[in-house]
Amino acid sequence: MNPNVVSEEYVALQKAIIDKQQQLRNYLANSVNSGVQEQEFNYEIPVFAQLKQSPVPPDLYRESIVEIESVLSEHQPPLKEELSRLISNLTEEDIVKWIKESITFNTGYFQTFAEKRELSPWLPHFLAEQALRPFMQLLAFQCKGFINEFDVMGTCPCCGEPHRLAKIDLKGEKCLFCPRCETEMKQKRLACVHCGDDRPEHLFYLNIKEDDVSRIEVCETCNNYLKLVETSKILENKAAAMLDLETIHLDFVAQEEGYGDEMK
Ligand SMILES: [Zn+2]
Ligand SMILES: [Zn+2]
Repeated sequence: MNPNVVSEEYVALQKAIIDKQQQLRNYLANSVNSGVQEQEFNYEIPVFAQLKQSPVPPDLYRESIVEIESVLSEHQPPLKEELSRLISNLTEEDIVKWIKESITFNTGYFQTFAEKRELSPWLPHFLAEQALRPFMQLLAFQCKGFINEFDVMGTCPCCGEPHRLAKIDLKGEKCLFCPRCETEMKQKRLACVHCGDDRPEHLFYLNIKEDDVSRIEVCETCNNYLKLVETSKILENKAAAMLDLETIHLDFVAQEEGYGDEMK
């Protein structure tokens, strides 16, 4: 892995955020009932899109924002003032809007929000997204028992995030791994995870120099790619969000070669 791509400080911050999100997920487990157990699902649509009740109660979302903010402030002291101004001015209305816009990953909304309040352009969306993840992770946890029944084309069967990462275990089995909700799902047959093309000659692999842990699976048909990580070669059990960050050099390579969603 190329250590120059992401700074050590950033990795440390992400690690701290991931730990905090796990704590929050456990805390929320007692208070959020998304009704998953009682509901029947269409296995071809992500769980999140089918929920009858919101899995993100506004008051708990605000608590999550405050917790993530404290991690950010601790790791990035220069942001302290800006963050406390942001938090103290967040109205109930903003919170409801943040839930909606972070779920749909509406970057434009958060950029306008940052401009209006004279905040760093990246900050509101970063905070909103990181605060949302514990709720997504809790949902994923509640769906663990039946998520392998799902067959959703192109996205995480739980939260609906497009696929971009998979781990390969000791037996060589491929497991799709979602950096947004941490859902793990076995891939049943060899096919492109984006378009479903199952002709093996249409999938090929890019290996990275001096990296024997990860490689890129590319589909000739849809021009999209998937990052593969051999987790059997990594001692630690890492969160999908961390693997995603540590393999960011693969995204650069793939995109440089002209692969990926934005390249269509
Ligand atoms: Zn997901
Ligand atoms: Zn494809």
